[in-house]
Amino acid sequence: MPVLVMKFGGTSVATLDRIRRAAKRVGREVANGYDVIVIVSAMAGETNKLVGFVDETGPFFDAREYDAVVSSGENVTAGLMALTLQEMDVPARSWQGWQVPLLTSSAHSAARIEEIPTDNINAKFGEGMRVAVVAGFQGISPEGRITTLGRGGSDTTAVAFAAAFGAERCDIYTDVDGVYTTDPRIAEKARKLDRIAFEEMLELASLGAKVLQTRSVELAMRYNVKLRVLSSFEEHSDEAGTLVCAEEEIMESNVVNGIAYSRDEAKVTLVSVADRPGIAAAIFGPLSDAGVNVDMIIQNIAEEGRTDMTFSCPTNQVDRAAKAMTDAKERGEINFHDLVADEAVAKVSVVGIGMRSHAGVAAQMFAALREENINIKVITTSEIKISVLIDRKYMELAVQALHDSFGLDKVAQGAV
Ligand code: ADP
Ligand code: ASP
Ligand code: MG
Repeated sequence: MPVLVMKFGGTSVATLDRIRRAAKRVGREVANGYDVIVIVSAMAGETNKLVGFVDETGPFFDAREYDAVVSSGENVTAGLMALTLQEMDVPARSWQGWQVPLLTSSAHSAARIEEIPTDNINAKFGEGMRVAVVAGFQGISPEGRITTLGRGGSDTTAVAFAAAFGAERCDIYTDVDGVYTTDPRIAEKARKLDRIAFEEMLELASLGAKVLQTRSVELAMRYNVKLRVLSSFEEHSDEAGTLVCAEEEIMESNVVNGIAYSRDEAKVTLVSVADRPGIAAAIFGPLSDAGVNVDMIIQNIAEEGRTDMTFSCPTNQVDRAAKAMTDAKERGEINFHDLVADEAVAKVSVVGIGMRSHAGVAAQMFAALREENINIKVITTSEIKISVLIDRKYMELAVQALHDSFGLDKVAQGAV
């Protein structure tokens, strides 16, 4: 029988009532003739609560135990979903990651999926089971320890299952009815996209749009999984939601198709470092060793052999970054006069594959920000995106202004 993967996020399984609604959808697909793999998240708020417990135990916790704790929310939902389906006379059972087994790397809290053997679940389908309910977000390392895939990782579980089982589709049910031109919670003019290209979705996700985990988009692109995002709260047709697909499958597109933001950014400047060969390596080597995820980097012009080096990283990594720099200074590897951290910045990015062939997007972006008197602190660009760092208090205003400036509330003009 054809296989369908259906993933339900936290808000879609937040209560027993919602689990029942989700189970009814699953039941309908079973009646349509599919064997269904259901991937569930923890009930809304549960993972945050579990992360909070771990944080309270102290600052230097064992990442393996962190995973043991935070993966547990999904176990509850998987069991409850299987029970609800059984109540509806749908033959179903739950699977935790290790039971499948979903094999991952040993990178605790950010593990990568290596393989999903299909035999166990397929054997059960062969015996008449119609729904395998799998706990998302979790797997097992080569050492036999429980791992997790990073926040939002159930999306990745879903796409990986769709690839492994050759599913006809991977449907991601969430609390919005698709992928929008920007987060509909901060820009009321945001418009739902019927289709979005893999590359654009990948950029939007990695720049902060949490509707899909970045890695899930990467996998869908690599294995050509038919990936759809849709609402678990509304009834809809087969064409509903947003299809994430190859660029060639999209007829019309704007130059800019989406705006993403990331709230928790910080900007760190090392004031007056020696401008000499190897200085960047001496700074960013220790930062990388300390596990700091450096994003943007600028090196200012040198004066009298000294320069300022600025980088951005997540706000909660500033202390770690400062320690790595102070330690490197004490070891005599670098020398700086001061370390200045601005922890109240945000990153706003415009994304569009049309930028490859259209000049002037950066100029238009900067002009729109100037109109709102928003100062730009750092700029980075790549082939299909431009990102700026600005004061966090202007973040929503910037997103709205850019949304207006690029006409994203209007249907695409076919610019690509
Ligand atoms: P789930 O719990 O179902 O995985 P998430 O909270 O992880 O849901 O992701 C859905 C949320 O993503 C939405 O509620 C929305 O606020 C946010 N979001 C951010 N950017 C976008 C976008 N461009 N389109 C749709 N939703 C977005
Ligand atoms: N429950 C996990 C989280 O909140 C995984 C997921 O929902 O995708 O990050
Ligand atoms: Mg999510």
